Amino acid sequence: MHPPMKRNLAGTILDGIVRMSSTRTNYWAEVVLDSALGCVLVVAGWQHHGSSPIGAVLAVVLGLLTFSFFEYVFHRWMFHTGIPLFEQGHRMHHEHPLGYDSLPFFLPGAVLVILTGLCMMVAPTGFALMMMGSVTFGYIAYGLSHFAIHHVRFKRPLLRRWAGAHHVHHYHPDCNFGVTTPLWDVVLGTRYVRKAREL
Ligand SMILES: [Zn+2]
Ligand SMILES: [Zn+2]
Repeated sequence: MHPPMKRNLAGTILDGIVRMSSTRTNYWAEVVLDSALGCVLVVAGWQHHGSSPIGAVLAVVLGLLTFSFFEYVFHRWMFHTGIPLFEQGHRMHHEHPLGYDSLPFFLPGAVLVILTGLCMMVAPTGFALMMMGSVTFGYIAYGLSHFAIHHVRFKRPLLRRWAGAHHVHHYHPDCNFGVTTPLWDVVLGTRYVRKAREL
C-alpha cells in the first residue's frame, strides 16, 4: 500500500550493497571465497573425471576460453550499460581506478555455483566440475590481473603493453574490454587502434 516507501527500502538496500562493494574487505573476501570454491570444484572434478587426463586438460582449456569470453561480454554489455548494480560499481572504478570497487563478494560465487549446476545437467559430472573450476580460477585471475594493472608499475615490455591496453580502456571506454586477454577484442573488432593524426 506504500509504494514510495517500498522503493525507498529497495533503494537503501541497493545503496548499502554498492557501498559495501567498494570496501577492501569485500574485495579480499571475494578472492578468498572464490579461491575456496575453485579448489572444491577442481578437486571434485578430478575425483569424478575418470581416467582421462586429456578430458581434464580439455575441460580446463575450454573453461579458460569460456571465462575470457564472459569477461568480455560482462564488461562490454553489462558494466557499460544501465544495469544499476553492475554499472554503478564499474563507473566508480573508472572514476577511481585505484579503489576497491567490485561486485558484492557473494554474487560471483553464487552465479558460479548456479552455472556449475546447469553445466552438470548437460555435460558429464567430472567434466562440468573441472570446467567450472577452470572458469572460477579464470575469474580469480581476472580480478588479480585487474588489481595488478592498476597497482603495479611493470618493467617488462610485454607486461607494460598488456597493462597499457587496459589503461587505454579507461581513456576510451568503447574499446579494449578484455582485461586478461585481447583475444575477444581482436575477434569482435573492439581493439583500440591509434588513429593517424589529422593534418
Ligand atoms: Zn580498470
Ligand atoms: Zn570499463
